[in-house]
Amino acid sequence: MIALEFSVAAALYLSLVTGIFFFYWIFFDRSPASGGEPTADKYVWQCSICTYCYIDSRHSAVSVCPRCGSYNKRQDSIPQKEVKG
Ligand SMILES: [Zn+2]
Repeated sequence: MIALEFSVAAALYLSLVTGIFFFYWIFFDRSPASGGEPTADKYVWQCSICTYCYIDSRHSAVSVCPRCGSYNKRQDSIPQKEVKG
């Protein structure tokens, strides 16, 4: 029988569980079937009038800005992903 200390066994167990979650996240959460982007990006809206960024998970085509009340239409590319530096 293989002699194994409790701390080594606990470390191996935690590494295995962490590895399983990591590979699941890499290969399934960002698969092309989900659009290749994280699910939360579908709910992020940016107002075309006041440029306010907000989250609306109830609407998919047209959303109302909570700050100025204007209607916003879903665009293919989300402009707030650009990083200006
Ligand atoms: Zn607005």
